[in-house]
Amino acid sequence: MKDFVNSSDASIHRQTKWIKRFLETYWVVIALHFAAQLYAYLYLPYEIEAGIFYYKVLLGPTLLMGGSVAAAQLVDRFAAKYSFISLFAAGTFVSMVIIHLNMDIRIIGAVMLLPIMASAIFFRLDLTLYTAVLQIVAFCIMYNWDSRFKAFLGPFDLIAIPIFILVGTLVAGIIIVNGRELLYDLETTMTAKQSLMAENATMLKISKTDALTGLFNHMSFHEYYEKALEYGELGVPFHLALIDIDNFKGINDKFGHRTGDLVLSRVACTIQENIPSTDIATRYGGEEFAILLFEQTFEEALCLMEQVRTAFSETRHAELGGLAVTVSIGLKSYERGTTKERLFEDTDALLYTAKRSGKNKVVTPLQTVDEGSAVL
Ligand code: GH3
Ligand code: MG
Ligand code: MG
Repeated sequence: MKDFVNSSDASIHRQTKWIKRFLETYWVVIALHFAAQLYAYLYLPYEIEAGIFYYKVLLGPTLLMGGSVAAAQLVDRFAAKYSFISLFAAGTFVSMVIIHLNMDIRIIGAVMLLPIMASAIFFRLDLTLYTAVLQIVAFCIMYNWDSRFKAFLGPFDLIAIPIFILVGTLVAGIIIVNGRELLYDLETTMTAKQSLMAENATMLKISKTDALTGLFNHMSFHEYYEKALEYGELGVPFHLALIDIDNFKGINDKFGHRTGDLVLSRVACTIQENIPSTDIATRYGGEEFAILLFEQTFEEALCLMEQVRTAFSETRHAELGGLAVTVSIGLKSYERGTTKERLFEDTDALLYTAKRSGKNKVVTPLQTVDEGSAVL
């Protein structure tokens, strides 16, 4: 299985966050222990001298436990690589102190299970094994050096506690393996979903664009045109421009189809460069382009189209022996109530007028501007 649980940034971030939470929880445990001891001393039968209680049960052990947690926090801050080791070493030390002070509570040995279970949330077998070994070591230390602990242990406890630790480790291991499988399945599903989405986006782009020029294709033009008409009905103005390359058949015949293709993509580039990104440039078909202009007034749209026209007539192409290519343009604004067919036919008629009256010009319903002459 891919070891993503160890390696991914998200998992490292999660691990760091939980180490901090654990360290905070230790302080809560220490505070609770302090309060419980004090309560027991004050309100329950607790046969111990006040001095011994305050120094040896309350303050001393609390300071020791607090010191170990503070040390773990320092390690977490300045040597984060060892955070886990110090976190569970401190946890084990706190458990040992609590066990030492509360040995009369028979179940207290089970406290050793807590660090093992807690370590499982990191989803790392190695870290849980390390914690389990720490508990065994803690048990051995206490058994050998803590005479009170040894005295309290019955023969049954001697077998039961290590077995508890082993079973606890096993359960934690099962949780980890299961959790990792779950995460792996989740990641596989997510990856599959992401690649499907990326594939869809690519397919969508391919189905919407023209392979030669990279502009939107005929089908997309109609989709955007319909949308523009819908918004137009609601009062959002737009303009339609139809651009046709002049004498393009001649270019193909004289310089070959490949050069024709090159000219087509240069025309597309020039159109795209001269109109704002909010406007829609499409290759309507062959050497014809349809543009939907949204952001401008009619005068500004006319200005843009003039810019496109002059950009062509002033560019000479080495592939065409230094000749320029010209375009003719029909431009019309949408008027409320106009049908989609009507606007297109009217604009096409304007383009036709531009062709008939000498080409290389922009024709609008209001005026005929800048009559240049076709170069080819
Ligand atoms: P006009 O000035 O009246 O528009 O004349 P024109 O020669 O540009 O127009 P016509 O409709 O006679 O010819 C258009 C040519 O465009 C014919 C066709 O072979 C060529 N064409 C259409 N699509 C492509 C293409 O993808 N690549 C190339 N190289 N040529 C194409
Ligand atoms: Mg044509
Ligand atoms: Mg043409």
